[in-house]
Amino acid sequence: MATDVNNSEELILKAVGIRITAVRLLIFRTIRNECSGIFNLAELEERLPTVDKSTIFRTLTVFQERHLLDIIDDGSGSQKYCVSSLDGSDANRRHVHFSCRKCHKTVCLTDVELPRVSLPEGYLAEDVEYVVKGVCPVCNGKA
Ligand SMILES: [Zn+2]
Ligand SMILES: [Zn+2]
Repeated sequence: MATDVNNSEELILKAVGIRITAVRLLIFRTIRNECSGIFNLAELEERLPTVDKSTIFRTLTVFQERHLLDIIDDGSGSQKYCVSSLDGSDANRRHVHFSCRKCHKTVCLTDVELPRVSLPEGYLAEDVEYVVKGVCPVCNGKA
């Protein structure tokens, strides 16, 4: 498993089977270098004014299909993307998200153990999303 954080962007994209194009590399670099944690489409579009919006969206979908990004629905109405697995390691790792109802921030809680859900017979799980809603430490006066 690749854990070298110095892995170049190209190697990471290749490793997950994404065909490399100049614009994909640009978008991937921008996400890695400028977006920390969670971002939405509008934020990325602002950082990439020269790139066509539908290209950005399609590229994010490719990254998401290859598990470089996770889509999070935190109830805010705008789809958000999580970038925590963009170092190319543990690309499929799922983690808990916490959404604060006061400051409306959503954060990745990668150290929290995921609960195991056992489904009744006949149900086949394909995807799961853990978003915990509440009040974050800042809004709670604990940070
Ligand atoms: Zn908060
Ligand atoms: Zn996350």
